[in-house]
Amino acid sequence: MNSNGKGETVAEIRREIAALQKAKSEIDDRISALQARLSTCASEDGANGTNCCSQRLTPPEPPSSGQLSADAIYRYSRQLILPSFGVEAQANLLKSSVLVIGAGGLGSPALLYLAACGVGRVGIVDHDAVELNNLHRQIIHTEAYIGRSKVESAAAACRAINSTAQIVEHKEAFRTSNALEIMREYDIVVDATDNVPSRYMISDCCVVLRKPLISGAALGLEGQLTVYNYNGGPCYRCLFPTPPPTTACQRCSDSGVLGVVPGIIGCLQALEAIKVAGAVGEPLSGRMLLFDALSARIRVVKIRGRSSQCEACGENAALTEEQFRNLDYENFTQSPLSMSPLKLHLLPAEARITTKEYNEINLKGEPHILVDVRPAHHYKIISLPKSLNIPLASLEGRLSEITAAYASEESNMTATGEASRAPSLYIICRRGNDSQRAVEFLHEKGFAFAKDIIGGLESWSQDVDPKFPIY
Ligand SMILES: [Zn+2]
Repeated sequence: MNSNGKGETVAEIRREIAALQKAKSEIDDRISALQARLSTCASEDGANGTNCCSQRLTPPEPPSSGQLSADAIYRYSRQLILPSFGVEAQANLLKSSVLVIGAGGLGSPALLYLAACGVGRVGIVDHDAVELNNLHRQIIHTEAYIGRSKVESAAAACRAINSTAQIVEHKEAFRTSNALEIMREYDIVVDATDNVPSRYMISDCCVVLRKPLISGAALGLEGQLTVYNYNGGPCYRCLFPTPPPTTACQRCSDSGVLGVVPGIIGCLQALEAIKVAGAVGEPLSGRMLLFDALSARIRVVKIRGRSSQCEACGENAALTEEQFRNLDYENFTQSPLSMSPLKLHLLPAEARITTKEYNEINLKGEPHILVDVRPAHHYKIISLPKSLNIPLASLEGRLSEITAAYASEESNMTATGEASRAPSLYIICRRGNDSQRAVEFLHEKGFAFAKDIIGGLESWSQDVDPKFPIY
């Protein structure tokens, strides 16, 4: 209240009432006018169902460049003003569609940039769920999505960046049974997978459907990139007519990868896809980019052109959709499509014990030697107490260490009066494959009593000690 006196306060209130009555009257007039327009529209419109009111009441279409809306001009302005990109390339991008196969380390940055830069439709294929050990490199995912579908997570991130891009979710594994139907709907394909059978399958499918393929790979501290099946260039089979031996096929889960390496290659894949979609620059066809993170070296080498002998795209090849559907890529490459780790069965049951059995042996204090055959840098991450680290690769040259440990254990037993029994020899590794190879080798070398601990440290963590970290 105004403190200058009663008269002035009353005058103020009257002024406010008058102002509000004026505003109310204007609103009433506006409502009457709109009601009148509504009744005219309804009678004009009749039964055709179109809504002329909404057309009349919304502002006219904003001015555009002829190809781009006002919003698009503003959103993409920083790339529109590039002389070598401009409106045409942007319009091409908006009309294009890109399928990214794999929402992992390569797919993460590729998807983010493709959605952000204005590709009209982006498809994402993956059947995995987000795991904690993905997050150091698969930067499209967040902790909140652990345990949920990678496709859902990646699609949400893309939509959050650009709600005008159409994001299509394919929550399934890419297989010959669904590959053609999924890929057919897109102009360009980005291979962001990490295994050899998928590379052949995706390349062949691109040849059958005549789609350019942006192929990237990253492992450890190295990466590579090229564009296949583009403008008469080679396909993957032209370069690699026969699959590499299985031992040469490594995966991040076995060999490790520094997160930023697939990040860099994935960004370059987005760049090549943008060049192809926008019809600008010289896409990396017939050339391969090789990246070495530790030495900070990037080289681009010329690769062979399309091979006339290629079984997919060569002169006499006529790979049909039907043939493609019937190809068995796991058999062809002798390598599995899924990420589930290899499980070897090399030994008879009597040469193996479970982690639970080993735990009991330990708890009872039974005399034994435990040899951990993982590489030394794995052993440094985590190991079981009192284990002896002799990596499988150096086992042959270090058998004397096992003999020495065995002799020492035997003399301990003699000292404590337990000499009636011989100490046991157990072999462990990360997942139980190398330990079987080691036991097989030790049996050949006369250590007939060596036994494998089934499932290795992963099984130890699962079945004995949940607090034991897995990696
Ligand atoms: Zn070819």
